[in-house]
Amino acid sequence: MSLPPIPLAGVIGHPIAHSKSPRLYGHWLKRYGINGHYVPMDVASSDLAHVLGTLPRAGFLGVNVTIPHKEPVLDIADVISDRAALIGAANTLTFQSDGKLHADNTDGVGFIANLKQNAPEWKASDGTAIVLGAGGAARAIVAALLHERVPQILLANRTRARADALKAHFGAKVEVVDWNGISARLEEAHTLINTTSLGMSGKEDLKINLDPLPADALVTDLVYTPLTTSLLAQAHEKGCRVVDGLGMLLHQAAPGFERWFGQRPEIDEELRRDMLR
Ligand code: NAP
Repeated sequence: MSLPPIPLAGVIGHPIAHSKSPRLYGHWLKRYGINGHYVPMDVASSDLAHVLGTLPRAGFLGVNVTIPHKEPVLDIADVISDRAALIGAANTLTFQSDGKLHADNTDGVGFIANLKQNAPEWKASDGTAIVLGAGGAARAIVAALLHERVPQILLANRTRARADALKAHFGAKVEVVDWNGISARLEEAHTLINTTSLGMSGKEDLKINLDPLPADALVTDLVYTPLTTSLLAQAHEKGCRVVDGLGMLLHQAAPGFERWFGQRPEIDEELRRDMLR
C-alpha cells in the first residue's frame, strides 16, 4: 500500500530570505497537524518559467509569489482570476490537476478581511477613501475598495504619473490629488490608507499633518514593521480607529493555505504573537 503524497507549497521571490510566509504557513501546518511543507525558494527572473513548470512534477500544489515575480507571472499562467487580471499582478499560484497554472491575487481580499476583523463596524461604502501611494500594493487596495463600493477614492503619490496611470485604469471614482496637497483633503476622509513604504523600519517616516482628519476616520497602514507606524500612532492620538498591516499579511495567505492544504486557517492572537516573536 503506498502512502499518500506529502503536500508541498512554498514562496518564490528574489531575494526571499526576508519573507515571513514560511513562519506563517509553518504555524498553521503545526497547528492543524498537517504533514506538509512550505518552502522558501530564491528564483531569478530568468528561471521563473522553468521552475514553475517543474514544481508540480516534484509534488508542489501551489506557491506564493513575491517581488519581483508578481507581475511577470501573469505571462506564464494559463488561467488568471478576474481580480488578478484587474490588479495586473498575482501572489497565489495553484498547479491545477489538469496541468494548468492558475494565478490569483489575494492582497485585496486580505486587506478588506483585516479591516472587517479589526473594525467590524467599518464599511468602505460609508465614505471617501484616501489612498497614499500608487505602487503594486495600491493597485490591489484600489481594486478591493471599488469592489466594496467605496463612493470615491482620493489618490496621492510622490510620482504623480503613477497615480494618473491608476486613475486611467480604475476610472471615474478615482481622483488624483497632488502629493503635497493631501493634508488639505484629509477632512473628506472616512478611511485613510498608507500603501507607500514610508514608515517602514530603516526608511523615512510618512510626514503628514493629520489635523484636518475627522476623529471618526479609520486609519490603516500596509507597513507592519514596525507594527505601530508613526502614522498609526498619530491617528490613535487623535482618537481615530487604527488597524495595523500585519493582519493583511495573515489574511492574504489564508486562501492559499486552504486551497493547498485543505483547511481554512484561523487568524487570531496566537498567530499574531507567533509572527511577532
Ligand atoms: P512599490 O510598488 O515599490 O511602491 C512603493 C510606493 O511607495 C510607491 O507609491 C512609492 O512612490 C512610495 N514611496 C517609496 N519611497 C517614497 C518616498 N521616499 N516618498 C514618497 N513615496 C515613496 O511597493 P508595494 O509593493 O506597493 O508595497 C508598498 C508597501 O506596502 C511596502 O512597505 C510593502 O511591504 C507593504 N505591503 C504590505 C502588505 C501587507 O500584507 N501588509 C502587502 C503588500 C505590500 P513612487 O511611485 O513615487 O516611487
